[in-house]
Amino acid sequence: MTSTARPVSGRQLRIAVVGGSITGPVTALLLLHAGFDEVTVFEAAPESAPRGGGLIGLEHCALDVLDRLGIAQHEFVAHDSEAVVQMTIRDRHPAEVIRRTYPGRNTTWSLLHHALARRLPAGVLHTGMRVTALTGQAGQPVLRFSDRHTELADLVVFADGRSSTGRRLLDPDRTLRYAGYVAHRGIAEVTPPSGLRDFLRLQPCPGVQFNLAPVPDGCDWTFYLGCTSAEYAQRFGADPTRRVFALPRHVSTAARTHVDTHADLLLPAEHAAIVHATTTRMAVPVLDITPPERMVWPVGTGHAVLLGDALAPVRPHTARGANNGIEQAAGLVAALTQHRKYRADLTAALHGWQRRHLPAAVAAVHRGPEIGHRLGLGIR
Ligand SMILES: Cc1cc2nc3c(=O)[nH]c(=O)nc-3n(C[C@H](O)[C@H](O)[C@H](O)COP(=O)(O)OP(=O)(O)OC[C@H]3O[C@@H](n4cnc5c(N)ncnc54)[C@H](O)[C@@H]3O)c2cc1C
Repeated sequence: MTSTARPVSGRQLRIAVVGGSITGPVTALLLLHAGFDEVTVFEAAPESAPRGGGLIGLEHCALDVLDRLGIAQHEFVAHDSEAVVQMTIRDRHPAEVIRRTYPGRNTTWSLLHHALARRLPAGVLHTGMRVTALTGQAGQPVLRFSDRHTELADLVVFADGRSSTGRRLLDPDRTLRYAGYVAHRGIAEVTPPSGLRDFLRLQPCPGVQFNLAPVPDGCDWTFYLGCTSAEYAQRFGADPTRRVFALPRHVSTAARTHVDTHADLLLPAEHAAIVHATTTRMAVPVLDITPPERMVWPVGTGHAVLLGDALAPVRPHTARGANNGIEQAAGLVAALTQHRKYRADLTAALHGWQRRHLPAAVAAVHRGPEIGHRLGLGIR
């Protein structure tokens, strides 16, 4: 880390990052590596909260950002296959197989989050801190927390995910809309079926997709099935736009039965058996949002930005959510570094970053419904 982090004013920029999942810790680590010392991450979940997540494909740009942070790839990539094997299923048997090469590698949320979080120096990450408001009419941005605590910052980076408080405060008209289907997820603690090294995508019929991949503890699967809003509320206890992640404790017996029944009807027997053998399950309703028109807002004399899922949660089929967050974080830190080292105008630097990264976020938002439509998934 350099010791030359003097901004134009002669004072360090005070940067508050909201969200400690993937995008937030990547942003904080990049900032620290670039010589910004006054960086704090605020995460709503308490340290003791059980957290975990499934498979995430990262493309080469995002992998390179992690490389530059000194995170060895074997630490978060357990299986280094680049293959995506797509199978059309007829009468529960593979009919047609297409093999593609993915320009990246698969990790899991848990491996990646752990690799990032353990590198944050002591005192940077503050858990159990839920941001509820941001003010700053004349002066600096002030973050307010659920326990009434407040924090001053020059720049607030909202990386607080799909139901972002930052988006609600800065861009309130962009609300989430349910797309009409659910990604049921599980990690089966079973030996992967014969020869499973690759990412496997099964397509039994329009409106259904099943993905399977090896992970350190067994097999990670995602089963996309249609579901009305009312059915989602019955199966997972709340509306899809409110319960944007159904944790294991929200998965009812009815939800398990629904998934098991569809596995028996549609999947080859060995894949249906994996679903049945999965004790801990989760679900993610697929959501859409109006594409963003901006990423940067003035707040008093400072700024706030949205990035990652906070800016634009995209459908999982795009495989772009985490990639977008990591690439946006790297671009943001490059812009801030120009300000710090070479006295670039901060507002112009932030708008330059926005101009560079907004089109990719907008494209990914559009691409989700296109893929869903092609697969027969979602409300049309
Ligand atoms: C089935 C599925 C498959 C996917 N596959 C891929 C893939 O292959 N490739 C890919 O790139 N992406 C993929 N994604 C998307 C990817 O998982 C997300 O885009 C990524 O996790 C978003 O990271 P994030 O850090 O921006 O947000 P999140 O992971 O949602 O984290 C937000 C964090 O902010 C915290 N928080 C929320 N509100 C507050 C608050 N008010 N105050 C403080 N903290 C707060 C939360 O507790 C959380 O820790 C997939 C998603 C799903 C569901």
